[in-house]
Formats: sequence, C-alpha cells, structure tokens
Amino acid sequence: MGGYSRIATVGSLRRRHWAAGGLCLVVALALWLSEGMGSTVMAQLPSADPCSIITQNTGQPATDGSGTDTAPPFLLPDLQTLPPTDLYIQIPSRGQRLLRMANTAWNSGQGRLEVIGELNPETKQTIVRQRLYTADGSFQECAVGEFVWHPEHNHFHFTDFALYQLWSLTPSGEPDQVVSTSSKLSYCLMDNYVVDRNNPSFTWRRRYYGCSRTLQGMSAGWGDKYEAYLEGQSLDITGLPDGVYCLVSVTNPIPRVVESDYTNNTAVIYVRIVRYRVTVVPPPALE
Ligand SMILES: [Zn+2]
Repeated sequence: MGGYSRIATVGSLRRRHWAAGGLCLVVALALWLSEGMGSTVMAQLPSADPCSIITQNTGQPATDGSGTDTAPPFLLPDLQTLPPTDLYIQIPSRGQRLLRMANTAWNSGQGRLEVIGELNPETKQTIVRQRLYTADGSFQECAVGEFVWHPEHNHFHFTDFALYQLWSLTPSGEPDQVVSTSSKLSYCLMDNYVVDRNNPSFTWRRRYYGCSRTLQGMSAGWGDKYEAYLEGQSLDITGLPDGVYCLVSVTNPIPRVVESDYTNNTAVIYVRIVRYRVTVVPPPALE
C-alpha cells in the first residue's frame, strides 16, 4: 500500500487474541475440510511448498528442491496476520452495508519475503519470482505468481495474498457457515509497519517501500497494513441479521509464496453487529 512507517509493539496483544481465537480457527479449518476445500488446506502443509525452482545463482543446474543433501538452508519468511482492527460499517447506498476493516500481514520469519517481477512483452503479464536467500546471500528463485495493475490503488499488486471471511455461529458459539467472503485480494507488499522489533533478523532499514512491478517484499519483523478505507478492505453484510459473528483473515491463502510455516497464517476475531454498529467481543464460548 502507499503508507509510511508506523510503530506498534503488539506481541502481547497478538498472543491474547490468538488464545481466544483458537477454537474458531480450528473449527473453521475443519469446516473447510468438510466443505470440500480439503485440497486447499492440505496444500498449506510445508511439504507442499508452492516453489518450482527456476534459477539459482550457485552455478549449479536448478534442482527440484526435493531435499537433496546439497539443498542450502534458506532463511525463509513466515507470514502471519494480526487481528483485524478499525472496524466500522459503511452504507455505500440505501439498504446496503459493508463491514470495513484494517488488516495487517507481517513477516515473523528468519528471512525476508522478496518478490521480483518481470514483464513478458508478448503476454503483457508481469510474472513474479520469489527469491529465497541463504545466510551467505546466495539464492534460488521460484515462480510464484503475478503482479497486476490495481486501478483504485494506482500501483502494482501481488495477486491472491489475503482472504477475509465472516462466519455465522451456532447457538453454542461455534462457527457455522460462511456468510460473507472476499475474493482473494491482491496486495502491494511493503515494509510499512513495525510489528516485532525483537525478531533476530529485524533491522530498522525499510528495504521494501515501492509498489513497482519489479521489486516488492516484506522484511523480517515488518508488516504491511491496509487501512480500512482502502478499496477491497470490506465484506458485504447487506441483509445480515444482527448478532455475533467470527471474522477470519488469512494471509497467503492458496499458498503462493514460500514460507517456513503455513499453519499460522490466520487471524480470528469475534464481532457483534447491530444495525450500523460493530464491536469486537470475546469468543462466545469464553463469555
Ligand atoms: Zn494497494
């Protein structure tokens, strides 16, 4: 996005939300499985890295990365999601309601997330490679997706980076059904929010801050916050009954980019929606 550096020390807050949201997350994953999305969930296991290695700078021919004894130890990123904040309900037209939220994806890993775009002049697509670094600075690159022009934000985005869902709850407070979902959202990846300055690989240097079609990324300890007013930061809740719901935000949902842990990418909060007001509430089971 197009913001600038803002500082937040949110470790303790994050842990508290995680403890509270655990039940919803587990049930949500189980429901995904039962709804035939098992292949998506299974694909998030680390054994199914989305990497097809296309280049490496070691002078060796590219391998399939299948764990040979020459495989270098990469310093991988690890994407996580902060609990959505700054929630409010927008009424874009009579009778219509949008639940808007700010969302922050961040990199808790040992290494940086770096993606490099290259325009194919024939197809006009900007194909994106992720560069995986080792400690000595050597790297491999994987084909991971595409940069697309985002007309409302006026810059380039990496595709399929975030997903938001609102779940209804059963009378006993367990997630029941998805009542609203975003499409998979594209993002301009950048360092615009310090989340964990205690990450061993953190430095104050903002390495990624443009939204170009050639280089984007997220450094270790840094996050990328999308403010609630931005296009795409909403779920349609027109016609939704008043009540308590579960709001789920997932980073790298497919997954597209390579990271060290695909099981910690989801943030969950509970919200009470009453007409045009929304408040964050504790998980119903713990009330
Ligand atoms: Zn943007």
